[in-house]
Amino acid sequence: MADRYTVGDVQLTAVIDMVPPPRQPSAFFAGVTDAQWAPYKEYLENGKVQLYYGAFVVKTAEHTIMVDTGMGPGPHPERGNLTGNLYEELRPILLPPDNTSNTNVSPSDQINFVVHTHLHADHVGWNLRYQGGIPAPTFRRARYIIPKADYDYFTTKEMLEKYPHIQKQVMPLRQLRLQEIVEGDYQVTGQVSCAPAPGHTPGHQVVMVNAGGQKVMLVGDMLHSPVQVAEPGWCAAVDYDQAQSRTVRERLLNQAEREGWIIAAGHFPPGQQVGKVVSRQGKRRWQSL
Ligand SMILES: [Zn+2]
Repeated sequence: MADRYTVGDVQLTAVIDMVPPPRQPSAFFAGVTDAQWAPYKEYLENGKVQLYYGAFVVKTAEHTIMVDTGMGPGPHPERGNLTGNLYEELRPILLPPDNTSNTNVSPSDQINFVVHTHLHADHVGWNLRYQGGIPAPTFRRARYIIPKADYDYFTTKEMLEKYPHIQKQVMPLRQLRLQEIVEGDYQVTGQVSCAPAPGHTPGHQVVMVNAGGQKVMLVGDMLHSPVQVAEPGWCAAVDYDQAQSRTVRERLLNQAEREGWIIAAGHFPPGQQVGKVVSRQGKRRWQSL
């Protein structure tokens, strides 16, 4: 399941790692009633909010960048024992067609940077793989870019106990000298940068790509469902600071529409993960490419 897009001089590929169990709409978005959902039934699947755990590959002329790494191989008992499929999905994307059967060439060698929008479990899952309890980086030639406010927030003793995925998929990167802790606006490559967009987590950031004049914003969990383009005030119940999440979403969606940015949202359904913000008859909506 991979959808490819060409934007200016950049190749953008959306990859689905895993499809988690669906959720009740009123439980997923904080304080949103069934009546408020009534005009937006098209965004539900069988009456439920269905998230997808996606990640993106951004290929510029000089670099290949992964944005987030999905839920990971698993199995994940808390999510119905499902397993992540991202690594296998990457092979045809990262290797030229005549090379896909050459087992000496690994798709993971092709990644120069892994940029994390934030440190939740469904965004860091393929950072490391374990053999006999020993971690090895899945993307062994990559620098892993991590926002400082998330790193500080999730690595206290208390949080490490609460979130074992940090212990497993984030902490070893330091010892392996693969991590880059960044703060504020950060230039990753000539064309790719990060910008703070806090609210979902303290250090949540978006990734901006300048694709030959066309701007692309990879939004991480600033958006969980296309319904939030029409209703930016709706916040996921899991947002760390809902007021901040709402303010950031409104500001960036306004800018995206005004300036015609392309948006990439990993939690959207397959085929709808890349699109634009458009307005028709005064109502804003998501239009996938
Ligand atoms: Zn997420």
